[in-house]
Amino acid sequence: MKFTKQREALAKKIFSTRSHFSAQDIYESLKDRVQISRATVYRTLNLLVENHIIEEHDFGRGKKFYEFILGLESHNHLICLRCGKIEEFKSDLIEKVVDEIARERNFKVSRYSFNVYGYCSECQKELFKDEKRK
Ligand SMILES: [Zn+2]
Ligand SMILES: [Zn+2]
Repeated sequence: MKFTKQREALAKKIFSTRSHFSAQDIYESLKDRVQISRATVYRTLNLLVENHIIEEHDFGRGKKFYEFILGLESHNHLICLRCGKIEEFKSDLIEKVVDEIARERNFKVSRYSFNVYGYCSECQKELFKDEKRK
């Protein structure tokens, strides 16, 4: 029952990861323990996205990211353009705005996510250290 074992390991990995991951991340973390193909990883991820168990994100990094969402509240992301760090944040203010827009347009919201791009505090230090020396 190789198939079942693969799927089980894959599902366990995905459901226990509480951060943002790429298909490659999942594949890398499993490939030494289970015989698994990239195609299986992609197929499974797509299936879980279709069933709203995980969410797909385009964080502008040239690959798709995923995160487990089932039963979790909506949140937003701060994405560092330099190191790729992704920080999550929640905001009552944004929540209110989303509710208001949805009400105005008679739209039933199931989820939302704002992506904010910029530079994290660490990268700001790196990027601007030359300027400070002058
Ligand atoms: Zn950074
Ligand atoms: Zn997130």
